[in-house]
Amino acid sequence: MGVTIDVLKCTGCGACTYVCPVGVLAVEDMKCRVKEGCISCGECVDICQWQAITLQNKKTGKKD
Ligand code: SF4
Ligand code: SF4
Repeated sequence: MGVTIDVLKCTGCGACTYVCPVGVLAVEDMKCRVKEGCISCGECVDICQWQAITLQNKKTGKKD
């Protein structure tokens, strides 16, 4: 459930933190972190140029 961030791909650009409608993303030490409360909207996945964010399927727990 929610999103997984690949810290090896994340550049800490912060783009995803601006598009999250519930504000659960934040960059710390140049790496993006996700807090509790993600609604799995997918906005951050679309905005990340480095494909660092993966949306988890709520029902199966598998990656989309
Ligand atoms: S948009 Fe991608 S690269 Fe930029 S902070 Fe978010 S996860 Fe990291
Ligand atoms: S999927 Fe949506 S709610 Fe979840 S972290 Fe990304 S932008 Fe925020």
